[in-house]
Amino acid sequence: MIDWTPLADLVEKYDRFLLTTHIRPDGDALGSEVGMAGLLRQKGKDVKVVNASRTPPRYDYLDPDGDLFTIYPDQVNAADLADRQVAIILDLSAWKQLGDVADVIRAFKGPKVVVDHHVSQDDLGAIFLKDTTAEATGTLVMQAVKALGGTFTKEVSTGLLTAIAMDTGWFAHPNTKPSTLRSVAELIEAGADINGIHRDLFERNTLGRVKLMGETLASLQTEMDGRIAYTAISREDLERTGAIAADSEDLVDYTVSLRGVEVGVLFIEQARGGVKASLRSRTGLDCAKLAGLLGGGGHRAAAGLTLADDLPTSIERVLAIVRSALDPATAGAQS
Ligand code: 5GP
Ligand code: MN
Ligand code: MN
Repeated sequence: MIDWTPLADLVEKYDRFLLTTHIRPDGDALGSEVGMAGLLRQKGKDVKVVNASRTPPRYDYLDPDGDLFTIYPDQVNAADLADRQVAIILDLSAWKQLGDVADVIRAFKGPKVVVDHHVSQDDLGAIFLKDTTAEATGTLVMQAVKALGGTFTKEVSTGLLTAIAMDTGWFAHPNTKPSTLRSVAELIEAGADINGIHRDLFERNTLGRVKLMGETLASLQTEMDGRIAYTAISREDLERTGAIAADSEDLVDYTVSLRGVEVGVLFIEQARGGVKASLRSRTGLDCAKLAGLLGGGGHRAAAGLTLADDLPTSIERVLAIVRSALDPATAGAQS
């Protein structure tokens, strides 16, 4: 259990907060920002939420007025942030994961706090309020709300339920615990509409996203008697289907939906060049460690990395590492 005194002290002492999260934000990233922003505003604080990536449209319900999430440097610049006294970094502990906001955090003069549950960690020059056993950063923000005497408004509860639901794959991934469901019960009691949230996330797909799912499934491949499953999304796939990059969120889950699969990988060609790989493991193989070999990181069961290579080279580099992790004796042999 985290001791929240350092955060309480900063809230006592300062008025103007900056919140940020990782690039390509997911439900935990954005939902945790909603929860933390809500808590701080209840305490009378001035809060700016500044992210390096645009908010995927499926999360629009987290910011119904469209004025919570702002994008750096497109919508806010360094001068707009010069008055911030404290920076709170949510759901990440690695410089790379900050994207362009890394410049803001490196130059930041005031205290910095990281609230996170990732194993991988850089020295961000921050106070780390971290618990790697937490299923989501949203769980930690929930603790912070309680520790600081905040209120679970409908808005805060909606953000935190989104965070916990998405990082546990809707209570199905191995990080789901009895306490996960207790937290969710509390959030529903406080006003989160679990069914409405699920509908917003999964039943408001664009045609492009559904077609991208189709492409992703159609190009699924297996290796090593089905122990590895992988698929790739190219720039051309996005154009052909009319999907946007954010539509690839959680499509990696299909790779581990196959019987007998141990490791699943989704490769996504990036607009700015390079390839993002998402790794998932179902047998305790440490994805964070594998991703770390190529400069990425994350959790045991879910991790990611970005390579500067083209798609075929990236696929080969990542698969080579996965193969040898699964079967050190016959590394390189494919079936
Ligand atoms: P995803 O594959 O869904 O993008 O990420 C899986 C997990 O690994 C998430 O918790 C995410 O924050 C983390 N992650 C993804 N990519 C990277 C990366 O390049 N570096 C680090 N340190 N973590 C990553
Ligand atoms: Mn995240
Ligand atoms: Mn998370």
